[in-house]
Amino acid sequence: MSIHLVGTLRGTDAREAWIVDGRLVLARPQAHAGGAAGLEPRAVTETISGFAYPGLLDVHTHPGMRRTPEPLATGEIRRRLDVLARHGVTVVRDAGGQHDPKVAWEPGLARVMHSGQHIGRFKRYERHLAVDVEPGQLPAEAVRQYERADGWIKIVGDWIDREVGDTTPLWPRQALIDAVAAVHDAGGKVTVHTFATETVDDLLTAGVDGIEHGTGMTRDHLLEASARGILVTPTVHQIRRFPEFAAKGVKFPAYVERMLGMDRVRTEHLALMVETGTHFLMGSDTAENVAEVNLVDELIDAVEDGMPADVVMAAASYGGRAKIGFDVWADGEPADLVVYRQDPEKNIETLRDPVAIFAGGVRVL
Ligand SMILES: [Zn+2]
Repeated sequence: MSIHLVGTLRGTDAREAWIVDGRLVLARPQAHAGGAAGLEPRAVTETISGFAYPGLLDVHTHPGMRRTPEPLATGEIRRRLDVLARHGVTVVRDAGGQHDPKVAWEPGLARVMHSGQHIGRFKRYERHLAVDVEPGQLPAEAVRQYERADGWIKIVGDWIDREVGDTTPLWPRQALIDAVAAVHDAGGKVTVHTFATETVDDLLTAGVDGIEHGTGMTRDHLLEASARGILVTPTVHQIRRFPEFAAKGVKFPAYVERMLGMDRVRTEHLALMVETGTHFLMGSDTAENVAEVNLVDELIDAVEDGMPADVVMAAASYGGRAKIGFDVWADGEPADLVVYRQDPEKNIETLRDPVAIFAGGVRVL
C-alpha cells in the first residue's frame, strides 16, 4: 500500500512524501526499486493533503503514574497510550511514573521515553508518587532512576512545606549539584519541577537540562536558561490551575498569595519566556485524565495565552522531537506523523480535528 502525502510538510524541505507499507519514503517510491527489499514501484492508493507534522510530542505526561499504592494494570497504561495516539500525540517523554509505560507499547500507540520515578522528599510532595529520599541520598537515587529510564530523570525541586506554610525548595544546593553531576557522568539528563523563584538559582548552578513549569523564573533566569540551552516546559494548562491550588491551601496564606500572585502575571510571564528566547518543550501534565485533557488542550491554551502558534507547533512537533531525540521526517523509518486540513499555525483549534495520524508505522486515523 502506498500513500502520497502532499501539501505543507512542517520541519522539512520536502514538498511531498510517501508512506509505503507503513514506512516514510521521501523520494518518489520508483526511485527505490531495487533498493529497499521488495519496494517495487506501486500505485498510490490514497492521497492525503493538508498540513503535516511529525507526530506531536508531549514531554510532560504520566502514562505510567498512579496515585495509590496499588500497581497500575498494563491495560490502563495501554489505554492512555492509545488515547494519546488518537489525538496525534505519537511520542512522549514521560515526566515520572512508577511504571515504565513501554510494558504496554505496541505499534499504533504513543511511544514513550521513560524518566523513571519522581524523586522527592518524605512529606514534601504528593503521596505515593515519588521515591522519597533525604538530600545525602539524592545523587545515588538519581543514578538509580537513570538506570531504569531512557535518558532523562525527574526531580521535584520545590513543593509546599506545611511547616513553613509556603512553597520552598526541597534540596540544599550541594545535593542538586552532586545529583546532576552524577547523572551527567552516567550519560543522562535531569529535568526538575519548579514553581518557586527561590529554587531556580540552585537549578542553574547545578546545571540541570530541563525545567518543568518554571513559573518563578525571573528575566535573568530565563536569559541564562536560554543561553545555556536549557529546555523549559511551560505547562500552560497546569499553570492556569493555580487559583484552584490556592483554594486548596487556604490554611497557608503565604502559599495562597504566592500562587495567586503568579496567576496574576500568568500571561505576562509566558510573554517574557517567549521574549527571552526560551527553548520550549510542550507538556500537558496529564496522567489518567488524558481522554479529557491532553496536549491538544495544552497547545490551544498556550496560543490563547499569547504564545506564537509557530513557536508552539515547532516545540510540540519537529523542534521538540529533535531536541529530545525522536526521529523527524526520517526516510525509511515507520511513519509517525499527523495531518490537519487547515494550518494549525493560523487556526490552532484545528488540532482537535486531524485528518490522518500514523503512529509507529500504523495508521491510527
Ligand atoms: Zn507532572
